[in-house]
Amino acid sequence: MFIDKARVYVSGGNGGHGCLSFRREKFIPRGGPNGGNGGKGGDVYFVADLHLRTLLDLSVKPHCQGEDGRPGEGYNRHGRSGEDIFIKVPLGTVVKKEEKILADLVSPGENVLVAHGGRGGRGNAAFKTSRNNAPRIAEKGEPGELVTADLELKVIADIGLIGLPNAGKSTLLARLTKAHPKIAAYPFTTLSPNLGMAAYKDFHFAIADIPGLIEGAHEGRGLGHEFLRHVERTKILVHLVDVSGFDGAKPEKNFDIVRKELKAYSPVLAGKPQIVVLTKKDLVPTPAGILSRFKKKIRGTALLVSAATGDGIDTLLKTIVKTIQALPPEPLPAQAPLHLVLEPDFRAWREEDGFRVTGKKVERLVAMTNFAQPEAAQRFHGILKKMGLDRSLRDLGIHPGDAVRIGTLEFGYEPEVKVEKRP
Ligand code: GDP
Ligand code: MG
Repeated sequence: MFIDKARVYVSGGNGGHGCLSFRREKFIPRGGPNGGNGGKGGDVYFVADLHLRTLLDLSVKPHCQGEDGRPGEGYNRHGRSGEDIFIKVPLGTVVKKEEKILADLVSPGENVLVAHGGRGGRGNAAFKTSRNNAPRIAEKGEPGELVTADLELKVIADIGLIGLPNAGKSTLLARLTKAHPKIAAYPFTTLSPNLGMAAYKDFHFAIADIPGLIEGAHEGRGLGHEFLRHVERTKILVHLVDVSGFDGAKPEKNFDIVRKELKAYSPVLAGKPQIVVLTKKDLVPTPAGILSRFKKKIRGTALLVSAATGDGIDTLLKTIVKTIQALPPEPLPAQAPLHLVLEPDFRAWREEDGFRVTGKKVERLVAMTNFAQPEAAQRFHGILKKMGLDRSLRDLGIHPGDAVRIGTLEFGYEPEVKVEKRP
């Protein structure tokens, strides 16, 4: 089974909790705060790997999580950060996050960060100030980012093999490369694009066997259409035509059917340089006549080969390499525009029975505050006030005691935060 699409659930590692601790040593009375910070949670990346061919592994095991950061400890020991993890995906994987393309991983090692690990919580040593030299406050680690990523594999090959089913594409690919495509295992012998590396002298190139086009494929009939998009980025098309007239139809007619399909599907594709390869030379007694007829018909390069005997394969390789080398250099991929979205710190609105506040910053604050610590709760309300939340809520007509909800937290509104003076 070939999988070319997968939905993956990725989460960054959670940040480690900050530590609340005080120095306790003989002869040192009233030791200062020494709780260390928690470690950062590991980030999760996708990385393009040359040796992977499908998204099968990920579709079977679609959950990935970065390593959690370790909690901070006393004596100002910070927790170790969680390891980043790199999930391997095949070359040509397009990564989408919420319908937006995040990356197009086309070269080996190219990677993209999909889910950030959470920040480590600060230990109480970090909260020491001149006003408060014994803070009883430590943050919780920030939860890792949760991302649903959609992956789509597009085969990137220099050469795309096209032609009707049975034209001999899989057989030729096997000849040209070390790949071992399944031959004749299905009615359409290749159900998936099959990628292999071929070489001529020192020149290496990728070649993809594209499943058979059939008449009407662009209207959704047959397999051709679904998989044709894999050939979108090839540089050259090698159009295979069975000269033995296997299905009774004339080779010229079969050639025209595929060209028509191609134009209907994508004019861009149809405009790519094409090498016409007449296959199964060994099955016809006088192949030379067909070759000259084709050359006249297409007014371009046509070759005769037999994948079965190897006849003409060397010339074909030479022609492919020459054609690739004659192509103008590819323009550098356009830099994706950088979208800087300036998000407000929060949004607040009235709900049926209270007020709702959302926003990355406030929600993170909720996740990282340990409300069991009175000082942490106090700091929390102080920060909200500084952000201007108090004001916004008042503008919305809030009354003391009304419910305010942020993420999973709910609390009653108090207009003034009382600051308890500690002895
Ligand atoms: P595809 O559908 O285009 O991938 O075609 P395949 O590569 O599966 O080939 C279809 C059939 O043609 C298979 O039975 C092959 O063994 C046969 N075939 C392919 N190339 C040649 C060739 O050059 N000579 C002969 N005699 N048979 C071939
Ligand atoms: Mg095939």
